[in-house]
Amino acid sequence: MSDCLFCKIAAHAIPAYVIYEDDVALAFLDIHPKAPGHTVVIPKVHVAALAGLDGGRVGPLFLAVQRVARMARERLLAEGLTIGINEGRASGQTVEHLHVHVLPRFEKDGGGSIHSVVENPPKESLEAMQKKLRQ
Ligand code: AMP
Ligand code: ZN
Repeated sequence: MSDCLFCKIAAHAIPAYVIYEDDVALAFLDIHPKAPGHTVVIPKVHVAALAGLDGGRVGPLFLAVQRVARMARERLLAEGLTIGINEGRASGQTVEHLHVHVLPRFEKDGGGSIHSVVENPPKESLEAMQKKLRQ
């Protein structure tokens, strides 16, 4: 088996607090929760980044994210959610197996929005950025 921690969890070779599983995806509680019910949702196949996941698995992965979102809303009575992926060392990714964080949010929980993650606005115009991205 690969040396990847999340591959081992996907194979049930090491324990985790699994809250949802299907053929493509697995959702388990983050071992260092930043919020009540903080969950990570992974594809069972090993890929480091979203771009590496085959198209047929992207939909099922995000359906699993949606299920976890519903669980947090309905069972934990989350008042909001922050959903995100740390991708690459620059973003703070520490486990190099694609995973989607689902963070249940509550009024006055002390957290910020996704906009507080980085403050590095571009020097070029949005028009120039659009050209660069679409070329
Ligand atoms: P990231 O910075 O996005 O790569 O986050 C990786 C996440 O995995 C962190 O929030 C860790 O707390 C979490 N994590 C690491 N090991 C485990 C584990 N054995 N079970 C559950 N979550 C874990
Ligand atoms: Zn892996």
